Amino acid sequence: MAAPAPGLPEWEVFAIEYGRHAGRLTFENFTAPLPEGFESHDAPMPMSFFVWVLRHGDRVIAVDTGFDRAQGAARARELVLPVEDGLRGLGIAPDRVGDVILTHLHWDHAGNHGLYDNARYHLQAREMAYCTGPCMCHTVLRRPYSVEDVATLLRRVYAGRVLFHDGTAEIAPGVHVHLVGGHSRGLQIVTVNTRRGPVVLASDAAHYYANLDREAPFPLVDSVAEMLEGFRTIRRLAPSPGHVVPGHDPGVLRRYPAALAGLEGIVRLDADPRV
Ligand SMILES: [Zn+2]
Ligand SMILES: [Zn+2]
Repeated sequence: MAAPAPGLPEWEVFAIEYGRHAGRLTFENFTAPLPEGFESHDAPMPMSFFVWVLRHGDRVIAVDTGFDRAQGAARARELVLPVEDGLRGLGIAPDRVGDVILTHLHWDHAGNHGLYDNARYHLQAREMAYCTGPCMCHTVLRRPYSVEDVATLLRRVYAGRVLFHDGTAEIAPGVHVHLVGGHSRGLQIVTVNTRRGPVVLASDAAHYYANLDREAPFPLVDSVAEMLEGFRTIRRLAPSPGHVVPGHDPGVLRRYPAALAGLEGIVRLDADPRV
């Protein structure tokens, strides 16, 4: 088992499952051909929607902001736990969150406007250029974005509340972002030092364990080559496969212990997974 990096804070890391797409089918999660073991195109393969929270002492960092009830209803995705309720369950008032890392600006990662009144936002410069530029003239490329999310973030740029990154950057001691691209042009992933060593929050660089394990790209993609390179980046940053947390796999909830008694939808990622 990996050890925490000496001298760095050991962060608590939580995943909050706030939404679900229960009726999702296998073919929606892979480019053809389907990987071995997933032969049936229309077998159920549900999707979970997560946000992640990092805490060390008084410092709290949110990774992605999720969607709210109205945003979920507009896209026929079920809200199972409002993000704010998940935070409060962990004893975190949203206005205590000092930094928000946006892995990318797809609608399921960048909504819930107004939740974090006191936070700075961290985004890769390439993501903002992508979702405000010529690629958005294509319906299929703009579909996973909401113009309201993009416009809200743009207003935060003008309010001096957004920090743009270009590649790897330190957000706090023991917390880094890394540009991956692939799924969206400026997708970034997060590494966080914990008591079990660095944990990689892969977000949509690996929707499911199976996308990563089988090197099977997810069909919503800007660059397949960058997505495949991203799988390698994830492996390079993680001390073991058990240190990688995919962005949408319900299996995360089975592998990690519940953070709160009686609430299975919030798990601790700084704890060792059940394999
Ligand atoms: Zn996405
Ligand atoms: Zn997503």
